[in-house]
Amino acid sequence: CGITGYIGYRDAYPIVINGLKRLEYRGYDSAGIMMFDGEKIHLSKTKGKVSDLESITTKEEERKNGKIGIGHTRWATHGVPNDVNSHPHSSQTGNLVIVHNGIIENYDTLKKELITRGYTFKSDTDTEVLVNLIEEVKKTEGCKLGKAVQLALNNVIGAYAIAVFDKTKPNEIIVARLGSPIAIGVGKDNSEFFVASDASPFIEYTKDAIYLEDEEMAIIKLNKGIKIHKINDDSLVDANIQELQL
Ligand code: GLU
Repeated sequence: CGITGYIGYRDAYPIVINGLKRLEYRGYDSAGIMMFDGEKIHLSKTKGKVSDLESITTKEEERKNGKIGIGHTRWATHGVPNDVNSHPHSSQTGNLVIVHNGIIENYDTLKKELITRGYTFKSDTDTEVLVNLIEEVKKTEGCKLGKAVQLALNNVIGAYAIAVFDKTKPNEIIVARLGSPIAIGVGKDNSEFFVASDASPFIEYTKDAIYLEDEEMAIIKLNKGIKIHKINDDSLVDANIQELQL
């Protein structure tokens, strides 16, 4: 039910965890975080509160010095609240990681198709179906991550705010929205970016925010910038940067 993410030059762990705490008002039953240390993905997730998540990630090697992280608080819709069903969810190869708010209504049909193509699933969530669909599209189309996310979302019926990370393309995060809010915080000279369900997790770091509209996706590239386009077609949307007021 809440998303936070960071890509930049600061340690991502405290930003993501404190961000999740600020989103606690949205309500949730589980929490999780993915940290990327430049080489490996570290996933930690648990039923319970953000403070429970912190107590399982206190080990130094889990925090690492990762400058990229995404976190989630879950309000279970598909699959009971437990550790395995908590987000983030990774794809079969382990390369892609997703956090998702909302519901993928046609997940069952998509899941059956993916199973016939050799996919196996660890969780009961609709979200794990989406991350594997993105992986399958990326493989079969041989396209970039942004395109794969777009094509996959065009096969999805439902509502979502998502953030997707690809270990093989660690300088970018993709976000998309349909029916669930997502804000992007833009750091000076594109040196860092924040993503969150609302601006409260990043207001202390930057006042420049972009609120995605429904049916928009953003490709966020570290040190380069943000490209926003429609999910249904490739038309580009001007990045409307708003100044946050305290
Ligand atoms: N449908 C997803 C799940 O049950 C996401 C729920 C949410 O919005 O937190 O895992």
